[in-house]
Amino acid sequence: MAAAKKFVYYFGGDKADGTRAMKELLGGKGANLAEMVNLGIPVPPGFTITTEVCAIYNNSNGTLPAEVKNQIESSMRRVEVEMKRTFGDAKNPLLFSVRSGAAVSMPGMMDTVLNLGLNEATVAAIAARNPESGRFAYDSFRRFIAMYSDVVMQLGREDFEHEIDRVKGVRKIKNDNELTLEELQGLCRSFLRIYQKKANAAFPQDPWQQLYSSINAVFRSWANPRAETYRRIYHIRGLLGTAVNVQAMVFGNLNVRSSTGVAFSRNPSNGLNFFYGEYLINAQGEDVVAGIRTPQQISKMMSEQWAKDHSVTPADRVAKFPSMEETMPEVYRQLVGIKDKLEQHFKDMQDIEFTVEDGRLWMLQCRNAKRTMMANVKCAVDMVKEGLIDEKEAVMRMDPYQVDHLLHPFVPPTVKAKPLAKGLAASPGAAVGQIVFTAPDAVAWAGQGKRVIMVRLETSPEDLAGMATAQGILTARGGMTSHAAVVARGMGKTCVAGCGSLTIKNKTATIAGKSFKEGDWITIDGTKGVVYEGQIPLEKPAVKGDFETILAWCRKFKVLGVRANADVPRDASVAFGFGAEGIGLCRTEHMFFEGHRIDAMREMILAKDVKGREAALAKVEPLQRADFLGLFREMKGLPCTIRLLDPPLHEFVPHDAKAQTDLAAIIGITQEQVAQRVKDLHEENPMLGHRGVRLGITYPEIYNMQVRAIIDAAIEAKAQGYNPKVEIMIPLVGKREELTFSKENCIRTAEALLRRRNAQVEYSIGTMIEVPRAAITADEIAQEAQFFSFGTNDLTQMGCGFSRDDSGPFLRHYVDIGIYDRDPFQSIDEGGVGKLIAMAVKKGRSVNPRLKCGICGEHGGDPTSIMFCHKVGLDYVSCSPYRVPVAIVAAARAAITEERKVVETRRRMLSSKL
Ligand code: ADP
Ligand code: MG
Ligand code: MG
Repeated sequence: MAAAKKFVYYFGGDKADGTRAMKELLGGKGANLAEMVNLGIPVPPGFTITTEVCAIYNNSNGTLPAEVKNQIESSMRRVEVEMKRTFGDAKNPLLFSVRSGAAVSMPGMMDTVLNLGLNEATVAAIAARNPESGRFAYDSFRRFIAMYSDVVMQLGREDFEHEIDRVKGVRKIKNDNELTLEELQGLCRSFLRIYQKKANAAFPQDPWQQLYSSINAVFRSWANPRAETYRRIYHIRGLLGTAVNVQAMVFGNLNVRSSTGVAFSRNPSNGLNFFYGEYLINAQGEDVVAGIRTPQQISKMMSEQWAKDHSVTPADRVAKFPSMEETMPEVYRQLVGIKDKLEQHFKDMQDIEFTVEDGRLWMLQCRNAKRTMMANVKCAVDMVKEGLIDEKEAVMRMDPYQVDHLLHPFVPPTVKAKPLAKGLAASPGAAVGQIVFTAPDAVAWAGQGKRVIMVRLETSPEDLAGMATAQGILTARGGMTSHAAVVARGMGKTCVAGCGSLTIKNKTATIAGKSFKEGDWITIDGTKGVVYEGQIPLEKPAVKGDFETILAWCRKFKVLGVRANADVPRDASVAFGFGAEGIGLCRTEHMFFEGHRIDAMREMILAKDVKGREAALAKVEPLQRADFLGLFREMKGLPCTIRLLDPPLHEFVPHDAKAQTDLAAIIGITQEQVAQRVKDLHEENPMLGHRGVRLGITYPEIYNMQVRAIIDAAIEAKAQGYNPKVEIMIPLVGKREELTFSKENCIRTAEALLRRRNAQVEYSIGTMIEVPRAAITADEIAQEAQFFSFGTNDLTQMGCGFSRDDSGPFLRHYVDIGIYDRDPFQSIDEGGVGKLIAMAVKKGRSVNPRLKCGICGEHGGDPTSIMFCHKVGLDYVSCSPYRVPVAIVAAARAAITEERKVVETRRRMLSSKL
């Protein structure tokens, strides 16, 4: 007969069945309990029922196969032998905890049940063990009844808590541990009555029934809506289920030589290498979390610091809140030894749970600690210095999605103030400022040296200048891809968008029912998406040094180039400072909005003929030239991709009557003429309208002017000793002939100018790939282009057929129910749009092997998309200046991941041959 499948893994004694490598099957908790046993660390014995059993249970309407029960029972016997006690025995009973634990830690699943196996007979047996056991036995029993009722039966625990409070009230005592034996016995009796009433059944006395109901409840909790929602939000897929750990109880509530605690091997908020944790004497694990008593610090130094922070006198501290180092020095030393051993073994910061029973230390859990990004960076750099990990491993520990937390001021976790309102965490960081309601006000106030927060229903392109000078932006409407959110992220400004409880009327804002006038102070936290009243003191991340070290390592390992999208010299300078290797996208239209340029631009649009247009354009040309020169100077010889005009002309003209009248006066025509032209320019579907290269073909004088400005600036930059590398980019090409036409124009213009100036500059001409037709015919287009830059915003819009501005509501739903894994505007839709990109790269390079390929859409700053860009062999990604460090980290991780995969595959092939 074939050996039965293994469903239950024993851990205890000096060897466990499992190891840390078996997370998928044993869950994180079970795998690490096994690993600790194998390391010779004291762990109460027990067994792990695998995640496979969870899948079987949930797929078979809640039945456990007989073989699983057999294995549970034989494992139980091994624990009984090891502990020299018997489950359910009326003389010498053994108690258990039942603990859930999947491969990924996951709130929403069932909580732990402690003290399982107690009933009226076993509680009496334990009480009779020795004179001090009575209190402890009944304390454990009342805990078990309440936990079982709450966790397994889901009947809540309020009634039990009221009952304890009532008894404590009668006795006028504050702490649970002051209850007498008789009171605890009384509590158990009333708890059993409460249970009977709520469950409409007697409390189960049979320990096996208690055990199986608990195991089943854990398995069921895997499929409950709370856990499912959590998995969906965090993209946790492909797991079988949760494991169940059944473990012999050790008792931190046995006496005053007992305790329970949690600790971190280093400080999880700043990463300092200092043992950091809390414990409670004479208590069980749940007490530390529940905050029933004030936990004490484990180390003496932290204890003294804590006393200072809480104005506790030194004498009082020693009397009431002594550290573990002082109360249990022997155990403390042992704990320090174990934490060091675990760190050395797992090579990462550990989060540990322990219990001391009558002076004997037991470990109940260890895992890699959750920590702030700041702590993560410090810890990784320290561990490289300590020789624990190498530089690549340090880089792999950086969550690129969290890297930008390091670049913005933040609300420190110690702040007690309650947020006033919630919105979307649209752009990270925090900002403090005085409220203004319009962009001009923001500019004016900032000009007087004031810090302002721009508060708007929503923002539009006219608000750019205001947004640029504000500390942060708060809007009532709009989602994560609203104008305010996208622009704020691009600028690296804090933004809370879609704050539902915000209304604005006559320069008064009402936030969650409270009214605010212009000039009132607020604080917004765009990392969490909350708004505070008044000024919250912010903190600047203090990890620059270590973070720079990490970035330097990343640069060493990455293959992808990282460029920035920068429209003006100021952005270029930020990008250069962050280590950008060029500009991947300069949107020239942004330059047209600044100051009086817009008037010349509008005059050009309203002109009747080519002559009129050229005259107006001549006013813009020197301004553009100056901008480009600034850009080239800031980038110091790195390549700069400059995109010729892209948006439709109607975006530049005023739509309200007053502004039209003003404009008519400036350029000397009638308001009616202005209004008529604006009407003519109207498009039903501007995204697919008269824009991009289509403008360049119908109004070649616009592109010609821009090319002159670019080349002229390059000549000047060269004369000043810079060595500009110019890349002229033609947007929205769908057909080779469009590019041919427009490109020839550009070359003619450029060459004419160079001849006239008797100069030479390095320039190339390429195109954006953002129309699906261009991707499909990339082998034709690449014959005309020296480079491709994927405009993935438009490519996604046209590739998926989603308008970015209109798709919010249904796309959210799509992502919720899993039709799309992620919002395709945030992470490249690899299965569709990604295929267009891969195809275009392949076809393009098949005719033009030296074709440079990059990406300049918002996706260029998204870590998941960057991984994809690395895989399809792009040369660079380009993102907003403030995301450059994020992209550098993501690019390095992509390279290291690929390298590790190659090695892993070869290793597997080799081992299959041997
Ligand atoms: P969580 O996953 O929420 O941390 P755990 O399963 O780790 O839940 O249990 C929470 C706490 O319960 C532990 O930290 C520990 O204090 C206590 N506990 C669990 N199992 C035992 C046990 N066998 N003996 C004593 N205490 C236990
Ligand atoms: Mg735990
Ligand atoms: Mg585009």
